[in-house]
Amino acid sequence: MFYYSTKNKTIKVDFRQAAIEGQAPDKGLYFPDRIPKWDDKFKEKINELSKAEIGFEIMQPYVGQSISKDRLEEIIQQTLAFEFPLKKINESIYCLELFQGPTLAFKDVGARFMSRCLGYFSNSIGRNITVLVATSGDTGGAVADAFYNVKGTQVIILYPSGKVSPVQEKQLTTLGNNIHAFEVGGDFDDCQKMVKLAFADEELKKRLFLTSANSINVARWLPQQIYYALAMAQWNKNTSPVIAVPSGNFGNLCAGLLAQQSGLNVKHFIAACNTNDAFTKYLYSGEYSAQTAVATVSNAMDVGNPSNFERILELYNHELKTIKNHVSSISIDDFKTTQTIEKVFNTYDYLLDPHTAVAYHAMENWLMDHPEDEGIILGTAHPVKFPTIVEKTIGKEIELPDKLASIMKREKKSILVEPNYESIRSQIIQLAD
Ligand SMILES: *Cc1c(COP(=O)(O)O)cnc(C)c1O
Repeated sequence: MFYYSTKNKTIKVDFRQAAIEGQAPDKGLYFPDRIPKWDDKFKEKINELSKAEIGFEIMQPYVGQSISKDRLEEIIQQTLAFEFPLKKINESIYCLELFQGPTLAFKDVGARFMSRCLGYFSNSIGRNITVLVATSGDTGGAVADAFYNVKGTQVIILYPSGKVSPVQEKQLTTLGNNIHAFEVGGDFDDCQKMVKLAFADEELKKRLFLTSANSINVARWLPQQIYYALAMAQWNKNTSPVIAVPSGNFGNLCAGLLAQQSGLNVKHFIAACNTNDAFTKYLYSGEYSAQTAVATVSNAMDVGNPSNFERILELYNHELKTIKNHVSSISIDDFKTTQTIEKVFNTYDYLLDPHTAVAYHAMENWLMDHPEDEGIILGTAHPVKFPTIVEKTIGKEIELPDKLASIMKREKKSILVEPNYESIRSQIIQLAD
């Protein structure tokens, strides 16, 4: 299997190189040059297989010769070391809970797979890999936890001081060892600007092996296909479900679309968006225009120009009609989001986080027009990660699960920095050397 750049099909690299580079040198996204087909036996027997067996079957063709069989099995076992239950909310809507991992967000799977791949590759290139990431909250926590103690890797996380939730801050700052948190006196845009300057800094890149941990990396994107297969393994009905995916950068949805091409049994996909509706508008009008992100209560989906849009176009040969045959999209505002949290809690005693609530609403909307269908929504975060909005909406406090309660007691260690590139640069060099 090779990966080409969406901007230039003649650039071809293997999995290892695509994962190490993150993005193609021409700023295109890496895309597989063929899509493997799941064999019939795998599909028929999927409910008898373990999570790790399912994960291996899906990922092996994508990884190819880049990682040995034994090591890949081990990586997948570690990646999927928690539960992914499919819970019934009501007669027609089920939730695949992807938030039982260490940081209670679905990004754990992609981040864990990627961290272990990079750890393995750092050994083969004989250099430490330095991962540099700016975060507004969730990504940083998943990346920190995933890379913690992975040999051959150093992680530097820039986060805006006072602008992440207390739980998120603890997740970023209490691990130590190879995880370094820079607390930036500025906002998220400042953090992102510093990271961009570092990636454009040729001098720095000569000294350090720098890579990003964002969701365009194939090692983060591709393992998300496993979620959909785990849903299938638990779906013991004869009908094919409709699946609604809370979407921001569209990596998760695009992984589902890819899995469908491989043989996943899905009737239709719904891209559930908040008011950041660049994709929703594109499906209606056929015209795509990048937007500036607008802040919402489902903030991990506040993306104005989703990176993986390019991959969706690639998957369907840029044919709008084909895209619409596979995906619909709906965009809802904060009022509808919180109303949905309240209604589902009061009616079905199921607590949704704001991101999953967007998907629930989208699914309900779909089922009104297609009453014969049944749906799965992807639960992307645990409601306890968004206590302010969730508690205000249901008028009740929610209890911290043990995993988070213990982290709240740990000591914060961060390096305070001003959004000044020169000073950040010298600190990065000191840490990584
Ligand atoms: C990142 C994130 C999303 C959006 O996922 P994409 O793959 O970027 O579309 C949705 N929900 C939560 C909780 C997230 O952290």
